[in-house]
Amino acid sequence: MLRRQCVARTSTEMHMEVSSVRTGPMMELQSYPPWIQDIVAECNDARRGVVEHECFQLMRDGALSPHAMRMFLAGAWPVIEQFPQYMAMNLLKVQYGFAPGHEMARKYLIRNIRVEQNHVEYWTDWAQAHGLSEEELFFGRRSTSAEALSHWCWHTCERDPLPVAMAATNYAIEGATGEWAALVCSSADYESGFKPEARKRAMQWLRVHAQYDDKHPWQALEIIATLVGKHATARDISGIESSIRKSYEYMRMMFDDCLVHEQCSSTARIQKRAMTG
Ligand code: FE
Repeated sequence: MLRRQCVARTSTEMHMEVSSVRTGPMMELQSYPPWIQDIVAECNDARRGVVEHECFQLMRDGALSPHAMRMFLAGAWPVIEQFPQYMAMNLLKVQYGFAPGHEMARKYLIRNIRVEQNHVEYWTDWAQAHGLSEEELFFGRRSTSAEALSHWCWHTCERDPLPVAMAATNYAIEGATGEWAALVCSSADYESGFKPEARKRAMQWLRVHAQYDDKHPWQALEIIATLVGKHATARDISGIESSIRKSYEYMRMMFDDCLVHEQCSSTARIQKRAMTG
């Protein structure tokens, strides 16, 4: 019986199960070593600053201005477009058989580079549904914070150790993105702002990222924990924690900048009203 089960699985899957540090269900934080549970708890406020951002509350309600929407779609574009390249840089760090976690990282990165290819195309469809030309999306003006987010991702994936770089991108950015996409999709208001025939294409990117059972960030967390092991050094912990925090903070700064124009125009409206009595 046991032998038949072994034959049914690939050797890579068997190896992954043997070498992982996970002790319970994949999508429960208690299944992972205490050091990584502490990091997740420490970064929780920074994560909430992203996933509950006013930008997404307005988007969900169909109340985000066209200007802010364009800032958002063009601002996030470099990270969307470069995401497979971040993973490719991390793939270069993997050496089969070198240490626990490397086989898991290899399989995850190779598979998900293919998946991210489709997401680039869904993003261009989303931008098009808001009237952004390819010229604007690819080469238009972006906020400094939007550029900073993509520079940070590129830098960490090029220079930092595998668990640190995967924490910044595959865990923090993908995880938070799934949560804010779910917030936007939690009401029909945003979707119903599109003409019925445009809805499917316009919403495809959000739909695929809003799946509540998205395993990708959990798989990334498992890989990070397994690469480092049950007992992390102080340097491992501070490197991973600060990379997760930086990704959240750069994201929040970018989303803040999408709303700057609305806040300025609402302040100007209030001042004008006060002046005209
Ligand atoms: Fe994606």
